[in-house]
Amino acid sequence: MLASWFFATGGASRLVVSTSNEGKLREISVLLRGHIEEIRSLSDFSRAEIAETGMSYAANALLKARAGFERSGWASLGDDSGFEVSGLDGRPGLHSARWARTSGGGMDFSHAIARVEKELKQKGFGKGFGEEAGSSARFVCALALVRADGAQCVVEGEVVGKVVFPGRGEHGFGYDPIFVAAGERVTFAEMNIDAKERISHRGVAFRKLCARCFSAAG
Ligand code: IMP
Repeated sequence: MLASWFFATGGASRLVVSTSNEGKLREISVLLRGHIEEIRSLSDFSRAEIAETGMSYAANALLKARAGFERSGWASLGDDSGFEVSGLDGRPGLHSARWARTSGGGMDFSHAIARVEKELKQKGFGKGFGEEAGSSARFVCALALVRADGAQCVVEGEVVGKVVFPGRGEHGFGYDPIFVAAGERVTFAEMNIDAKERISHRGVAFRKLCARCFSAAG
């Protein structure tokens, strides 16, 4: 049988994921179910921060994947994603995680969500805020896979929709409570993980990655 791109060089069925975000790691494990036997977080190998100095999601994903590969010696996956609000000219975008950073160095997404709401209101988006009055938005996800021999593959996915206030739902992470995908009525945070990944930017990117790197025909 023909081997997929990932296994073409006979590498082990294991992968290190360059993220310390538990929410993302959970979603990635679900998405790679059936393709990879052992998935570990890079934090199991090294706690050193990877500076996200790239000018695009793809550049940052590759930066993380290569760092994971170098620090673990395993095949490695890096991802970079962001939330782009049209009414804020595409911000927070590459700075999506940074908007949640607290002065103490922790992460607080209620803080980031409040900033999106405040800045949209300042731009006149606030009247009768709700499903009809929000701004359009999209999530973007870039994935970079570095194989056991160092070869690499990069893909991107997106999901478009709108911002809603107040936020709703308890699932997911990050900006999920204030995002409703096109054609949906509930926010990402009101969906379970499988329903979200069927349409999410990460789901789209992973299906591309699986077709390209984990399928024998790819
Ligand atoms: P990074 O990809 O780790 O640099 O972080 C991107 C940031 O974008 C995350 O910390 C979240 O704030 C946001 N983000 C990315 N994907 C999602 C998602 O699926 N739901 C909610 N927020 C997300």
